Amino acid sequence: MPVQPRVDLDSLPSYVAGRSVPGAIKLSSNETPGGPLPSVKQAIADASENMNRYPDISVAKLAARLAEKLGLPVEEIAVGCGSVALCQQVVQAMCREGDEVLFAWRSFESYPIVTQIAGATSVRVPLDGTQTHDLDAMAAAITPKTRLVFVCNPNNPTGTAVRKQELERFLDRVPEDVLVVLDEAYTEFVTDADVPDGIDYVRSRENVAVLRTFSKAYGLAGLRVGYFAGPAQIADAVRKVYIPFSVNSLAQIAAMASLDAEEELLARCETIAVERDRVRAELVEAGYDVPDTQANFVWLPLGDKALEFAEHTLANKVVVRAFAGDGVRVTISHHDENDLFLHAARSYRSTS
Ligand SMILES: *Cc1c(COP(=O)(O)O)cnc(C)c1O
Repeated sequence: MPVQPRVDLDSLPSYVAGRSVPGAIKLSSNETPGGPLPSVKQAIADASENMNRYPDISVAKLAARLAEKLGLPVEEIAVGCGSVALCQQVVQAMCREGDEVLFAWRSFESYPIVTQIAGATSVRVPLDGTQTHDLDAMAAAITPKTRLVFVCNPNNPTGTAVRKQELERFLDRVPEDVLVVLDEAYTEFVTDADVPDGIDYVRSRENVAVLRTFSKAYGLAGLRVGYFAGPAQIADAVRKVYIPFSVNSLAQIAAMASLDAEEELLARCETIAVERDRVRAELVEAGYDVPDTQANFVWLPLGDKALEFAEHTLANKVVVRAFAGDGVRVTISHHDENDLFLHAARSYRSTS
């Protein structure tokens, strides 16, 4: 018999990346449309001189910068090769076979994948009727086997966000030995002041962690860098399961240069948020049901029509991300690209 991998991997879904189609506008991966700032490009170019050297394995400078920015001890920070890698590390750091990882569904597609790779069990709690986390149902789904709960806020792919009061009520109900991981990949696009900043709970509670990334608001998706902030003993374990050197030197340098240019980058996010609200309003005007979104994308719960809608926008040279049988996620870009998408969405309504 030829060599075979673990049989349980047969049922492991593969991560589906947003499609890129030459000649079409890509609104399928929640990237920001602006390229790296000149200052960040320069820092990357300068750092390329030292590519014969290994990166700093402990990512010390960047971790110290982040600790200072967040007002947390550096022991509570772990930098990773994108926050997707950190999702996997935190599950590996917390769970053994048979342990349960709880999350909403639909939510970020990495959660079930990293859970299964670790040999743990996914427990999915359906979103409520407004496509938002049903935190009461999630609290009720916690069992003695639950080790970890992911709360993606705002939620990918629906864009909806839980507010402070409901999140605090939920956190009060979670047993102290269960870690709540707030995945805040889109936090920089939030405009509603009632949506919490998870770092406040890292400071005030013993079982809350936050994941953030440089891929979205900071425009470094191609370089792979994100961070974990949470209880020191968990941050330590997350660092233990880190693949050595996986945060490369260019990523470390570019992340620091991006923190230097933070104001300019966050101003871009504000522009995206204004466009997001415009696109949502125009879709609603055109007759679409679009949940309130606090991220850099909108969600169209089209059910069985999701794939057909995506084919239609593709025929109009706009690539969106369809989730078969469920809905379509569309990333917000520049005004003109958003208009091309809106044009395609309107023409779909008039033809279907
Ligand atoms: C995009 C995204 C991430 C992370 O991305 P990285 O590029 O791996 O840092 C994490 N969580 C959610 C919910 C995301 O949408």
